[in-house]
Amino acid sequence: MECERGQTKWQFRQKSSFTAGNLAVRAVVNKVMENVDNSNGKPIIALGNGDPSKFSCFRISERAEDAIVSAVRSAKYNGYAFSAGMPCARSAIAEYLNKDLPYKLSPDDVYATIGCSQAIEILLSVLARPGANILLPRPGYPYYEARAALSKLEVRHFNLVPERGWEVDLDNVYALADENTVAMVIINPGNPCGNVLSYPHLKKIAETAKKLGIMVIADEVYDHLAFGSNPFVPMGVFGAIAPVITLGSISKRLVVPGWRLGWMVRNDPNGILKETKIAESIENFLNITVSPTTFIQGAFPHILENTRGRFSNKIIDVLRQTSDICYQKLEDIDCITCPHKPDGSMFVMVKLNLSYLEGITDCVDFCCKLAKEESVIILPGVAVGLKNWLRITFAIDPFSLNAGLDRMKSFCLRHAKLNQ
Ligand SMILES: *Cc1c(COP(=O)(O)O)cnc(C)c1O
Repeated sequence: MECERGQTKWQFRQKSSFTAGNLAVRAVVNKVMENVDNSNGKPIIALGNGDPSKFSCFRISERAEDAIVSAVRSAKYNGYAFSAGMPCARSAIAEYLNKDLPYKLSPDDVYATIGCSQAIEILLSVLARPGANILLPRPGYPYYEARAALSKLEVRHFNLVPERGWEVDLDNVYALADENTVAMVIINPGNPCGNVLSYPHLKKIAETAKKLGIMVIADEVYDHLAFGSNPFVPMGVFGAIAPVITLGSISKRLVVPGWRLGWMVRNDPNGILKETKIAESIENFLNITVSPTTFIQGAFPHILENTRGRFSNKIIDVLRQTSDICYQKLEDIDCITCPHKPDGSMFVMVKLNLSYLEGITDCVDFCCKLAKEESVIILPGVAVGLKNWLRITFAIDPFSLNAGLDRMKSFCLRHAKLNQ
């Protein structure tokens, strides 16, 4: 008997490498970073990602750090956690959110997750069924598109309106929704827009969702990071109008994205999510996925206690200050217009006017050349759904922010079209 010779034909070969829809923000930032020219002697100023954890002015309180040490030392957190989260963490999250709600959440309404990202992943997986679609904001946060693509959940984009403080275009939402729409997503305070939605507008969103028979997924990962005229109002306030699932985490609010603790919460006083079996499906899904690290959950009540007040106010004060610097410096650059002064989160979205520039083809080209010539990293708007816009983070120490924006200005002057 003769065996066939030659090379093995590997059966797991793929036609192209794995991608999930759009590139994640991080991947686009890395691509922009590749252009940095280390020989120009300029240290990199990163205005691409919203992770200011390395700056001392954003460092979490020492007592919150101690809470983790104590949790580890107690030896109470060495086992597996319950899949929906440890009771101490679920209660603390419920209590934290209850301060801003007209009704009371129970710990059973709360699921602890590995950051807000895992909450998005679980929820979109649970909502996906053949033919279903979800409404996402444009511009938005591309992790939603990526997770929807993986779950084969169809995405339809509604617009945010820059001239109206990036409010949701509700007519657009009506026009897009049909009988297969399961949910709409809002991100408030906004990423990438840096806006904070008003109480009346949030109420209109809830009423729209009710008319359409869909739930609202409220990504509030930047909760309370509001420093303008609109106070932060959680979408859960309107949970009696339409069911709301609130997603959050300590990543941005407490500036510890590496700690990986988040939540997914049913803001649904009428029990619609139970009736429609969504609650049960989430719980079943949680049984087949992993939970956040136990000692972070165990420490969480103390982390909250030790970040209230001074720490929280300081973060908001720094962001208010840096958002002002950012807005003023950008106003001074001819090829950039900023339709809305940021009043929340860590970002501002600005429009690039290519007609003012010589030899720059689009927002990606702008960001790559800026990285090469000035070692300043910002995110091309196309990564968040708006071509020829730019997303800039101001969550960075004021000194570096000033320097970064000065370099951006000299870049724009150097590339300005003559006789403009
Ligand atoms: C950063 C971010 C997330 C992810 O948060 P993690 O807690 O780090 O997983 C989710 N949504 C938005 C809008 C974000 O900006």
